[in-house]
Amino acid sequence: MSFESLGLAAPILRAVREQGYETPTPIQAKAIPLVLGGGDVLAGAQTGTGKTAGFTLPMLQLLSAQPPRKDAKGRWPIRALILTPTRELAAQVEENVRQYAKYLPLTSMVMFGGVGMQPQVERLKKGVDILVATPGRLLDHHQQGTLDLSQVQIFVLDEADRMLDMGFIHDIKKVLAIVPKDKQSLLFSATFSDEIKALADRLLKQPELIEV
Ligand code: AMP
Repeated sequence: MSFESLGLAAPILRAVREQGYETPTPIQAKAIPLVLGGGDVLAGAQTGTGKTAGFTLPMLQLLSAQPPRKDAKGRWPIRALILTPTRELAAQVEENVRQYAKYLPLTSMVMFGGVGMQPQVERLKKGVDILVATPGRLLDHHQQGTLDLSQVQIFVLDEADRMLDMGFIHDIKKVLAIVPKDKQSLLFSATFSDEIKALADRLLKQPELIEV
């Protein structure tokens, strides 16, 4: 199994090679073709399995295959949203997105609380393709009217079990109400409680299941 055989485009393969990755991890081998196929995915994966590249690499390919259109305000819309439970994870995921997207004309931003809103507002104004965020600050921006999620096509809930453990269920439900119904959704979780299953039922349409 090679990254080439998974159907990833040349600029992505180049970035992956520069990371020093030689072969896809099991979660990547399973997730990449499914995400490229456009379906929803429910994946059981711990950190350290390579799950971030598992959802990011095909996401980048899907986004780069579809040129963005400016929204009514003349801005480039957010087309992918990745929600994570903590600032640290958000920063780490966005750093990965940046690395994997280095040869693509796609931009990313990380957004979390505990820092000023205004620099984030300024960054949003410049246009962002891929937003990596924690739920609280995301909702703050939405309430303030500084964040438009109406053009999100790909939605990822990363470490969903940790998000629920941290009490984010209400925030997640609010985010689900803001993003479009018609989108591709991916849910990653290390464990599957009844609460996660209920969330998956609510979010995912006929998902493919992956366990590693
Ligand atoms: P993650 O589970 O996404 O947090 O990734 C764990 C670590 O594995 C990160 O440091 C990645 O850079 C690394 N990694 C991801 N995919 C591969 C791969 N195919 N080969 C080698 N290392 C990888």
